[in-house]
Amino acid sequence: MFIPAEILRKKRDGAELSADEIRWFVEQSVQGHLTEAQIAAFLMAACIRGLSLQETAALTLAMRDSGTRFSWHHLGKPVVDKHSTGGVGDKLSLLLVPLVASCDVLVPMISGRALGHTGGTLDKWESVRGVRTTFTSERLEELLRSVGCFIIGQSADIVPADRIFYHLRDVTGTVESIGLITASILSKKLVEDLDGLVMDIKVGSGAFLPTLDAAEELARTMHAVAASVGLPMRVVFSRMDTPLGYAVGNWWEVAEAERALRDYAAAPQDLRELTEQLAAAMLLLAHQARTHEEARDRVRAVWHSGAAWQRFHALIRAQGGCWEESVETYSRLQPLPLTAWEDGFITSLDARTVGLAALVLGAGRRTQHDAVDPAAGIVLHKKPGDTVVAGDLLAELYSSTPDTLPAASDLLRRAYHIGQAPPTPPPLILGTS
Ligand code: URA
Repeated sequence: MFIPAEILRKKRDGAELSADEIRWFVEQSVQGHLTEAQIAAFLMAACIRGLSLQETAALTLAMRDSGTRFSWHHLGKPVVDKHSTGGVGDKLSLLLVPLVASCDVLVPMISGRALGHTGGTLDKWESVRGVRTTFTSERLEELLRSVGCFIIGQSADIVPADRIFYHLRDVTGTVESIGLITASILSKKLVEDLDGLVMDIKVGSGAFLPTLDAAEELARTMHAVAASVGLPMRVVFSRMDTPLGYAVGNWWEVAEAERALRDYAAAPQDLRELTEQLAAAMLLLAHQARTHEEARDRVRAVWHSGAAWQRFHALIRAQGGCWEESVETYSRLQPLPLTAWEDGFITSLDARTVGLAALVLGAGRRTQHDAVDPAAGIVLHKKPGDTVVAGDLLAELYSSTPDTLPAASDLLRRAYHIGQAPPTPPPLILGTS
């Protein structure tokens, strides 16, 4: 039995909490014995003071144990997953889940919602009309048997501690913490009974960790915690200075992922490159290929054949969604265009500012009680490297609340930079560990 304010004081003053204190705090949070103010104070103290490796591992395990832990190995197939630290336009999971499941590997993805200026796979997935993201364990097993994958969220039974902390971190400026990010991600992944996890750690203005140094420190922490519980993990460091693909915001990203799965050749180059890299890493962890090239060729085969696209639609139907109704609903929206104000090259497009513009449109939350607008988003028509003439269409903004459009458009205009010399494109993949 501890006194909450004493734990908070200790962390506020920079002392190290014991594993017992952390477990107790997590349990009390989940049982509803602490106020949101106390939990938010803990998150802020952890964010400012940092968490040691021991504290991070203790927090991860306490959060993992806050709800159900699954076991899927009786289904007789390898089980892997992927997670990202969060980006703008990052719809990779929506491609990876059906691609990897089409290679005879189970992908039981527990995902998150929008966090800060970044989007969340769960909010994107739920923008498909009818899609549900909470199921009983029995139904989840049926989904794995029939479709080989699912995309669900934290719930009162599944990592409830992350559900509580995640919502509060989103609206209290406490996302950018190596310890809290590690515990949030790994607690979700450790309940999935995985043979391996691929981490996409984003680096750049649109990521929570802007520098490679900070991203590498996160990777070291995650590797240490994953190794302490025997979870094989591979990390890919990828650039997040500019949005991935051309769509930002819930429905628009799902629609772009669907188009990309339908037509490999038409998929944006950055989406294709990173999807193949991450999917190949997942197949290697699942021991479904001996080399990266062999894994990538398997992924390409199910992409080209349409098998992954069919799996994507099978998963939507299995989770209760209706694609045709979604297309019809969202196609009724009228966008606000943003046009180029001078001739030149798009020299940069700041991912964080684009993410904030999407948030203003309603794609994210300002308080934890807000609902996201599935129709809110931005479709980009020009990206860095493109030439423009004054008056050309740069982007289209969508929202169900049209009075958000002018402010979001102002922000988006500030995200774009037009200059007279073409930029040198930085590499998308910065390394692996
Ligand atoms: N994704 C998560 O699930 N948690 C974080 O803290 C960041 C990204």
